[in-house]
Amino acid sequence: MRFSKNLFSFAGDYRRQMEVLECIDIVTDIDNTTLTAYLQKTEGCEIADEPAVLSVKIPGSPIIKFHLSDTTHFYNHLFKLTGSTEFITAFTEKYTLADSPESEEAIFSVNGLAYIPPAMRESARVLDKAAAKQLPVLVQTKDIKAIIHSHSTWSDGSNSIEHMAKAAIDKGLEYMVISDHSQSAFYANGLKPDRIAAQHQEVDALNEKLKPFKIFKSIEVDILNDGSLDYSNDVLKTLDLVITSVHSNLKMSEEKAMNRVLTAVRNPYTTILGHPTGRLLLSRAGYPIDHKKVIDECAAHNVVIEINAHPRRLDIDWRWIEYAIEKGVLLSIDPDAHAIDGYHDVYYGVMAAQKGGLTAKQNLSSFTLAEFEKFLEGYRKKRGY
Ligand SMILES: [Zn+2]
Ligand SMILES: [Zn+2]
Repeated sequence: MRFSKNLFSFAGDYRRQMEVLECIDIVTDIDNTTLTAYLQKTEGCEIADEPAVLSVKIPGSPIIKFHLSDTTHFYNHLFKLTGSTEFITAFTEKYTLADSPESEEAIFSVNGLAYIPPAMRESARVLDKAAAKQLPVLVQTKDIKAIIHSHSTWSDGSNSIEHMAKAAIDKGLEYMVISDHSQSAFYANGLKPDRIAAQHQEVDALNEKLKPFKIFKSIEVDILNDGSLDYSNDVLKTLDLVITSVHSNLKMSEEKAMNRVLTAVRNPYTTILGHPTGRLLLSRAGYPIDHKKVIDECAAHNVVIEINAHPRRLDIDWRWIEYAIEKGVLLSIDPDAHAIDGYHDVYYGVMAAQKGGLTAKQNLSSFTLAEFEKFLEGYRKKRGY
């Protein structure tokens, strides 16, 4: 980015779309005196002048680190300050980093590598993919065709199904999956079977009215302590698809958590495993699971794994996406929206998914309506009707 006559670019964890940031790194060729004079105009701004770095604290904002470079070495600095330590170490062992490259693209191309997007500059492995020209075409926000996983006023959401659906239509989406809470989630006004039947009548009427947009009937069904689901099969059968999630008794040993999650994954009614660890970034670690075993089991039972897009969750962790893709598991970027505003969270889910190398084809919420209906047909076969 050129601002006035100077170069600026985000770098570091922010540019790599990390889920938690300690500071925001910016590389620039502006000189120390001009930048300091400019920053000092901001009220309450504290500046720590380390060699070649201005560390800036502004009230109510994260720490911003300006890495000062000369113009000639700007892209060299930007490259080194963007990749993870593992990535940069592997790159410098195998490839040449020119002293004054004309662009970041040039750093890759002179080494015979495809351009690696900043989000993916984490592992050494990605360099081999770039050398073999086998980098994935990453999913983008524009590839999202649906809101999968949403709550309405029927449980703990803030908007009616109709409002949620109309907002999805306004966003150009093709369909949505309404998945209110199940009966054990009494604290969230979870639905008893008679209310599910009533909700389905409302959905049927809306589907008539809002054609060709479609609302699919689902519930975010609690995975109970023993791994069973929160309704009888007779009730589950009335749903187009089922998202299963753990919401209660989160303090578990790995053995207990695995038993619970794997039992749910083996249940033929489970379509999507919701927020697989229950983590809340910066506040709750989530219950311990053996990710490989859970992914393997989802592969064996054709269960989709959610990438819960809420910025506090981002669960499943992006570090496991590559393995899930290798195993042929579908993922689904889901906003878990409790209000129309929550649709925006899809953006964070996409950012995390890109880190894991997800393509639109491997993401359920990127399926067109026709593709999604076909997917559900396969799911019904699995359930045996
Ligand atoms: Zn949930
Ligand atoms: Zn939810």
